Amino acid sequence: MRISKLFGKTLREVPAEAETISHQLLLRAGMISQVAAGVYSYLPLGWRVLRKIESIIRDEMDKAGGQELNMPVLQPLELWQETGRDQAFGKGMFTLSDRRDRKLVLGPTHEEVITRMVSHNVQSYRDLPLLLYQIQTKFRDEPRPRAGLIRVREFTMKDLYSFDTDEEGLSQSYNKMLQAYQNIYSRCGLPTLLVEADSGAIGGKDSHEFMVIAKSGEDEIIHCDNCKYAANVEKAQSAKSIIENGKPLPLEEVDTPGMATIEEVSYFLKIPQSHTLKAVFYVADGRVVFVVIRGDLEVNEVKLRNILNCFELRMAGEAEVIEAGIVAGSASPVGISGIKVVADDSITSGANFVAGANKPATHLRNVNYPRDFKANLVADIARAQAGQSCPKCSRKLLSTRGIEVGHIFKLGTFLSEKLGALFIDDKGMPHPIVMGCYGIGLGRLLAAAIEQKHDDKGIIWPLPIAPYHIYLCPLHREGSNVTEVTENLYAELEAEGLEVLFDDRSESPGIKFNDADLLGIPIRVTISPRTLKNNSVEIKWRSEKESELVPLEGIAARLKKLVSEGLSTSFNSA
Ligand SMILES: [Zn+2]
Repeated sequence: MRISKLFGKTLREVPAEAETISHQLLLRAGMISQVAAGVYSYLPLGWRVLRKIESIIRDEMDKAGGQELNMPVLQPLELWQETGRDQAFGKGMFTLSDRRDRKLVLGPTHEEVITRMVSHNVQSYRDLPLLLYQIQTKFRDEPRPRAGLIRVREFTMKDLYSFDTDEEGLSQSYNKMLQAYQNIYSRCGLPTLLVEADSGAIGGKDSHEFMVIAKSGEDEIIHCDNCKYAANVEKAQSAKSIIENGKPLPLEEVDTPGMATIEEVSYFLKIPQSHTLKAVFYVADGRVVFVVIRGDLEVNEVKLRNILNCFELRMAGEAEVIEAGIVAGSASPVGISGIKVVADDSITSGANFVAGANKPATHLRNVNYPRDFKANLVADIARAQAGQSCPKCSRKLLSTRGIEVGHIFKLGTFLSEKLGALFIDDKGMPHPIVMGCYGIGLGRLLAAAIEQKHDDKGIIWPLPIAPYHIYLCPLHREGSNVTEVTENLYAELEAEGLEVLFDDRSESPGIKFNDADLLGIPIRVTISPRTLKNNSVEIKWRSEKESELVPLEGIAARLKKLVSEGLSTSFNSA
């Protein structure tokens, strides 16, 4: 490709609207262009990268036994109402009406469509297992589209669905996909970390995410260097310390004038925060919920939402708290009625806590569960934090940030039961099909590759997903044979099947080198009167500082070897 003909311009200035590195570099390199919030066009260079990622993913899905098909973006809302997941996705789902006023949705995912289709096509255990996938556009109305391609509203996704007769079959399908995903990231030159994850609106049981470690990542990962425990903070657990406070003592009131927060109360009464009970108020699907947790811990809203099994969860406003008969600043689970109480299991690892008295300027000492108050639900709803103990080996937990580039779920049978996807076993008995689903967002993977590999000059593409392999760069062409040599080499390299971006512009060396670095093409080949004087060309890898003069003779064969070695190295590096 000749740069003089290439659609898309490089920018020297960092666009003001772009905060993350990948967003800045994709705009500056002329690879994407924004159409609306969270909606982007891919320009030719960006599209080439996306197509390469797509081809690696397709290859690994096929190798794992996947069958590719294609499902529509437009889906009837009724299908979603049958599984109840229209509520789970809520405002995240784009809905519309057709001319006959029938409600449709722009598919945020395709479990419903594929499960219904499988229910029509699978009868017997002999029809299973099945691995079916597509690479298709998805729509999600994100509340805060951000970071360029990281969080968007329209995106290309590979989604595979597994259908098995039992849990053991599901585990096999799950492990197959886990391996296929590891192969994909490895082939894209992208190291990832496998972490335990929450299943969110998709639903289901076991779930893992593949994370690219990056400072700009919007996910927090809690992990242990000793036993390799790693989980998304939404899901992560920690071993809660046991607070020994002796035998339960009688309840007693204590004056706490002007003390409203846990910090103030614990300072005033000279007790650690872990000896207090904190009250937090939420509204779950329109109803106020009283949450109790040990004073040294924080509430994890994802865990709370899962325990409550609710669609919408938010912090309660002051007016809602007062209306529920609670005295803010001294809220207490003791003596409360007519309101759902959810407690973190930390309240059972301690005794004689200080808690509110539901009376202004007053707290209670020696509050004990279940003697003094009841809870409708007791479960782990605490947010795991770095510095707390690992739930597996008790060492200190660490925290890092990552970008999710893949998510796999063991769904089980809840969708097949709702949509009637059954099979008949060898004894003639019907059973629901056991399902799993497995997704990769292609654009996000592309952006994550940039977040992971770049420098202050630009992108550093791993060779297998680079838009072109070689940046061919002639300099000072006037009055020399540089043009002629470069044109010949360009034709030769193209004939060899190498992907070459030919900088045929009459720009200065500075501008050409800056663009080569910004675009991140792995191998730069420079030809100038100086190199030709030595019958040589200069070769420089984007990822390295030093360049090398190599003989012009046999250069095409040499570059071909470099590229094929580079492709196979990335292929093998796990
Ligand atoms: Zn550990």
